[in-house]
Amino acid sequence: MFLRYLRQQREFGYPPLILGKSEEPLPGAMLFEDGRAEPGTATATAATTTSATPESAVAAPDSDGDESSAASLSELRDSVGDCRLCGLHEKRSKLVFGVGNENADLMFIGEGPGADEDRIGEPFVGKAGQLLDKILIAAGIKREDVYITNIVKCRPPGNRDPQPDEVATCNPVLKRQIELVKPRIICALGRFASQTLLKSNDGIGRLRGRWYDHGDIKLICTYHPSACLRNESYKRPVWNDFKMLRDEYRKIRSD
Ligand code: SF4
Repeated sequence: MFLRYLRQQREFGYPPLILGKSEEPLPGAMLFEDGRAEPGTATATAATTTSATPESAVAAPDSDGDESSAASLSELRDSVGDCRLCGLHEKRSKLVFGVGNENADLMFIGEGPGADEDRIGEPFVGKAGQLLDKILIAAGIKREDVYITNIVKCRPPGNRDPQPDEVATCNPVLKRQIELVKPRIICALGRFASQTLLKSNDGIGRLRGRWYDHGDIKLICTYHPSACLRNESYKRPVWNDFKMLRDEYRKIRSD
């Protein structure tokens, strides 16, 4: 069973997740109103690419060759079941596995479920999710075409950061999701997901605005939609990041 695999991963201390390094953030200002891009306000955005570190785990092969070989997302979800491998299960209402297109070219990865997600059992369905929907519409990306999940599948109490042991314990689920979906692009939403996926302590302001390569997967980071709800000055850089994302997504889908 996959749960046994998860236990083994936890016992042996699964390595942290992926990628590379960072650069300076770009200044920005408010851009979105009602999910539409404000004309004439775009600023230049760094478009360089940084290679991933080799220890990246996101797209790495499963060296243990164990039960993470679930053949589909539904099989993986069944295998995870009512997971209680880390302490986050204690206060969750629903395990939030992920949602979207099994063959998505684009995968969004957030930190963990919030209160609405915990209640409903689906990622990005609260106010932050509604803002993400608006950004996707503005970028011409259909939500039903992408796959959305989180670093950890159960809500951290009070929306605190997941602890390292919780991330490590849940990591095989995310890793297998990525292996199954095989996205061409990953967008990390927010500081925690970006730092975790890039294995970096840099702030999101330094991590965003550029591409990272890991094998065939291109990764970009941006502010979490919930941060935009708290501080509208983040909306401009988010839109700049989404324009980069949109352009790459269009390019990939036209190949
Ligand atoms: S966060 Fe992940 S490892 Fe922890 S209980 Fe939930 S599904 Fe299991």
